[in-house]
Amino acid sequence: IERTFIAIKPDGVQRGLISEIISRFERKGYKLVAIKILTPTKEFAMLHYDDLKERPFFNGLCDFLSSGPVVAMVWEGQGVVKYGRKLIGATSPHNSEPGTIRGDLAISVGRNIIHGSDGPETAKNEINLWFKPEELV
Ligand code: ATP
Ligand code: MG
Repeated sequence: IERTFIAIKPDGVQRGLISEIISRFERKGYKLVAIKILTPTKEFAMLHYDDLKERPFFNGLCDFLSSGPVVAMVWEGQGVVKYGRKLIGATSPHNSEPGTIRGDLAISVGRNIIHGSDGPETAKNEINLWFKPEELV
């Protein structure tokens, strides 16, 4: 069965959106198989966003991800990688549709409250980066 890595970024935690975001995945029918809250180091954030290291916003993005508690999760279910991205909405909240998490709850690309793996391979890598195998049920 397919799994994906989802993280509620520091802005989502700070704004009190943890339960709102978890509810949307839960109500859709996906299964939560791992969850923890932690403040990543900047070095860890840089590993997580390694594919974006050439982008001008990389440094600010990694500073932001490591600025406070993040809720790291693994969700399981049919098509969860692709459909999870659909629940999340487009990267920039300017483009994300109403009904999506970013569309309903965010206005800024730099503060878009949630991360979701962008494909099955990325999902495997991100789950391995953030979790030990024994942390998954
Ligand atoms: P995420 O990986 O966080 O789920 P995404 O896959 O929709 O988001 P990516 O292209 O992987 O988008 O970018 C990672 C994150 O970098 C975005 O979620 C956003 O917070 C930030 N970001 C992307 N583009 C910009 C930009 N032009 N300016 C500032 N921040 C950006
Ligand atoms: Mg991405």
